[in-house]
Amino acid sequence: MNLELKQKQFNSAMELYENRKRYKLFGRFVSIINISLQIYILSRVLTLAIGFWWQIVSVITAYVITDFINGLVHLYMDDNENYESLAGPFIANFHLHHRTPRYHDNNLLIMYFNETGSKMWLVFYLVAVAILFHLPNTNPVLLYTLTYIGILSSIAEISHYLCHNSNSAVVMFLIHIKLLLSKREHAKHHIKDNVSYTFLNGITNPLVDFIAKMFFTGYKKKTDLHYAKYSESNMPRR
Ligand SMILES: [Zn+2]
Ligand SMILES: [Zn+2]
Repeated sequence: MNLELKQKQFNSAMELYENRKRYKLFGRFVSIINISLQIYILSRVLTLAIGFWWQIVSVITAYVITDFINGLVHLYMDDNENYESLAGPFIANFHLHHRTPRYHDNNLLIMYFNETGSKMWLVFYLVAVAILFHLPNTNPVLLYTLTYIGILSSIAEISHYLCHNSNSAVVMFLIHIKLLLSKREHAKHHIKDNVSYTFLNGITNPLVDFIAKMFFTGYKKKTDLHYAKYSESNMPRR
């Protein structure tokens, strides 16, 4: 594909993202839907009792699956160059995370809200889980696990943000006990090519790295080149 054409398409998509209010409004709308659904399924699941050990199983399973799914979505998005599609402005804006060494400092709840708005796939997931609550005889351990996945997917964005922005003792401790994303592991994603896509705690990186190596060509020589002509001064505040 012609590089110059892709760079032009990228810049047009970013122009739309920056100048048309509807894209940012849409992000807020997605946040509100996602968070409402998260509150709904959490309130439903908390009425079910599964005991301490099944809770532990649910949380660990959800952690691993969330890390993996969000890593796969990241992999797919980093490879995506459909700037002229309906989602083009969101795709272009997403690619800019590769040149963001530090994010604008923000309250974690505001970060949770903002970042949840970029997760359109999560709307479909949470609707499906909400429907499951209305089906008879759904396994409660499964419902807990699916609910945790729905919430941890937003927390993964916080983990990525903290990985870039925080050196606080609490965060360093959570990284140390492998609940949050390791700075060294994640740095590979920004420095190298086609690796380290996961961002909850990075536990499934070897698996996602393997899938990336088998089926994807990486971003350094592809989508990273598309924003090369996008002016720094236009960089959205992240
Ligand atoms: Zn990336
Ligand atoms: Zn990053």
